[in-house]
Amino acid sequence: MHELAITQSMLDLVLEQTEKAGAKEVGKINLVIGEMTGVVGQCVQFYFDFLSKGTPAEGAALSFTMVPTTARCRGCDRYFELREFDWTCPYCQSNNIEIVAGKELFVESIEVE
Ligand SMILES: [Zn+2]
Repeated sequence: MHELAITQSMLDLVLEQTEKAGAKEVGKINLVIGEMTGVVGQCVQFYFDFLSKGTPAEGAALSFTMVPTTARCRGCDRYFELREFDWTCPYCQSNNIEIVAGKELFVESIEVE
């Protein structure tokens, strides 16, 4: 259920930027969501439709860019997409890995009218 809080703060940010830009309407919101955050685009869309009612962002299109969970192996220095619950390097079987992508969650850009 954390999508509700996320959507609310995203909407606050969007409305703040819209006001700053002196725009009356938000056309499109581009969001970047890392796979690791567990945030589901559909849920965000659902809450967005509900929360944005009566605001300049009402009816805005949401665009989601999903970022796969990517890890770097400290053993062989290779990058690979991390599978769920499988925290080993597919090249050298090392467990010494670090997450380099997949925790993203931000508004990339807003298109106002
Ligand atoms: Zn490795």
